[in-house]
Amino acid sequence: MHANLRLPLILLAFFIALGLSSGVCAQAAHGAHEHGVAELAVVLEGPELVVELSSPLDNLVGFEHAPANDVQRAALVEAGRRLRDAGAMFVLPAAAGCRLGDTDIESPWPLGTAATASRPTPAPASAHAGHTHAPPVGGDHGDVVATWRFTCAQPQALERLEVGAFRQFPRLRKLRVEHVTARGQGAAVLTPRAFAFAL
Ligand SMILES: [Zn+2]
Repeated sequence: MHANLRLPLILLAFFIALGLSSGVCAQAAHGAHEHGVAELAVVLEGPELVVELSSPLDNLVGFEHAPANDVQRAALVEAGRRLRDAGAMFVLPAAAGCRLGDTDIESPWPLGTAATASRPTPAPASAHAGHTHAPPVGGDHGDVVATWRFTCAQPQALERLEVGAFRQFPRLRKLRVEHVTARGQGAAVLTPRAFAFAL
């Protein structure tokens, strides 16, 4: 029922396996809020590939407060559209035969699509299936967590992942990647000029 639980559990096992302190684990789980920087967790288990991006909202839209005008409302819609365009965010090897399942986006202010933008939303709180997020306290910063789930016909062919997020979100300057596959674990730091890593 609660598929969202799956990734954190896998990541927890990953960090325990690495023998990292709980402090590091907590930091990785919540992410250090630094504008221009985001974190990407990539977990391949059997045919299932889960990619989770944790980013300050500023990286995606250039502000971190409730939208105050049409330009900012449009920026939220556009960011949602770009995040949902998984093929632009990530380039997976064609040989792996990965198909996108569902995409989940959690944001302090809903990142709508054009189709849903006109629908009344309970901003600034956002509701997801089964749970609700409280509006951010203090209002100085806000983080977005986007999760993409793929099913891959030939997961062993998934040897490389290319990230298109830098083209989609030019304010993003650095992406810290942690990945776990049957081949092992690893980490990478990506930039607009070095945007691919081996799995
Ligand atoms: Zn911030």
